[in-house]
Order: sequence, then C-alpha cells, then structure tokens
Amino acid sequence: MSRDAKMKVPITQLQEGENKFDLSSQSQSSLCNLMQKIAKAGYVFRSDLTAHITLTKLEPDYYLKGTVAYSIEMTCDRCAESFPFATTHPFEVALAHLKSKTSHPYEPSDKSKEPDRIFFEGNEIDFEPILEEQFYLSMPYHSLCKMDCKGVCQQCGKNLNREQCGCKNPAQSTPFAQINGFKAR
Ligand SMILES: [Zn+2]
Ligand SMILES: [Zn+2]
Repeated sequence: MSRDAKMKVPITQLQEGENKFDLSSQSQSSLCNLMQKIAKAGYVFRSDLTAHITLTKLEPDYYLKGTVAYSIEMTCDRCAESFPFATTHPFEVALAHLKSKTSHPYEPSDKSKEPDRIFFEGNEIDFEPILEEQFYLSMPYHSLCKMDCKGVCQQCGKNLNREQCGCKNPAQSTPFAQINGFKAR
C-alpha cells in the first residue's frame, strides 16, 4: 500500500475499534492536491495542512473524529490588512454505508449535538471530501486581525491601528460605532 492510499481507506483493511491516521500535505500528495484546490479558491497557506483522524469501526457504521490544522493568510474585514490565521479545528462525523439499513445508536462525545452523518458507497472511505468540508467549516465568520482592530478612516483611508488621522470624525465601520450612532439619535 502506497503512503498515498491513506486518504482513501479500504474498509476491509480497517480493524475493529480505533484506526488512527496522521496525515500531512507534506507526505500525502492527495492532501497536497486538496491544499492546492483550496489555494485555487483564493487561500494562501503559510503552513502544511495536517489532519489527525481516528476512524472507529462499529459495524455497520464508522465514526470519524479528528482535527484539521493549518495556517493561512487572511484579510481583515475592518482594516483590509493581511494577517496569519492558524487553527486546529476539531470535528466529528458519522459515516454510514448506503447498503446498511441498521445503525448503532451512536453516543457522540458531546451529547448536545449529533455528529453529521455522511453516507458513502463502495468499499473505501475517502477522507478528502470530508477534510475539504471541515476546512471550510473551520473558517471564522469574521476575520479580524485583532479583536479591537480600529479599522480604516472612512474619510482619509488611513489605517487607524497605525496612526491617528486629522479628520474631525474618523468614522469607523465597526459594530460599536454603529451602536453608538444609534444611541445618539
Ligand atoms: Zn484589522
Ligand atoms: Zn481620516
């Protein structure tokens, strides 16, 4: 079995219980391909894309628990400067074979939420689409270079994190500025 076959796991090769996989775009070319696909969508990686996966076989289902980790270049929503964003994103998914009708009552480690259930066909579990989805799920809703980023002056365009401008009312496009403006009315 080539090292690369690890991204697609033949279910017959899985042992009962836990099967562990440590993947890195440095050593798995298919993970490297995924990274390039994501890069084509506009993301600039500053590190390798890595994943640690524990695949648990509990006939007839499979449970996948793991983390996906990376560092990318992001652009701040407020000041438009680029900054590094690094994360280790935990995820949990349940896999069910399309052929199997029954399913174990799975106990997720976090009982407040059932893991996503993904159906698969054939004799292989392909990590690639799962990791791709988890990459996008790991993205923050708002990208801010820092929590208290002051943004850009709407009048002169200066980055208010670096300097104060001479404008009378350097309007910032921050939620707080909007709330203050609302209260003043
Ligand atoms: Zn910023
Ligand atoms: Zn200004």
